[in-house]
Amino acid sequence: MKLDADIERWSRDVGARMFFEKGASSGSALNFARLYGYAFEAGLNPTVVRIYSSSLHQKQLQARYDAGDRQGLRVRPATSSKHIREFNGQMASDAMDMPCSSKENDVICAQLARQIGLRAGMDFKEPDPGHYDTP
Ligand SMILES: [Zn+2]
Repeated sequence: MKLDADIERWSRDVGARMFFEKGASSGSALNFARLYGYAFEAGLNPTVVRIYSSSLHQKQLQARYDAGDRQGLRVRPATSSKHIREFNGQMASDAMDMPCSSKENDVICAQLARQIGLRAGMDFKEPDPGHYDTP
């Protein structure tokens, strides 16, 4: 991956704050912004669908999945999840669900994520394409 000065500057100056305000931890927000920026620039059509989840919301998602309503849920939401993290009472997620517009684009996005230093859910034992998190 070639570093792009414009994407790096946007991520630092604007993107990290946007992702922090959407619930990312201060340690994850910058890399989430970078991944979004590079995926967008590569034409992968990324859509951020989830960063932070409360444990209540996570339980609701599990119930919906178990009842067979799996819209937007590629795998059963985990009970212990990097999406649920909080710090000092504030949302501080170290995970982001950002599917791209096709399975091929998800594969390319996962490559970008690995280069940025994020884990790609696609690599999990139970693959979760579109999920990215901070190791
Ligand atoms: Zn996820």
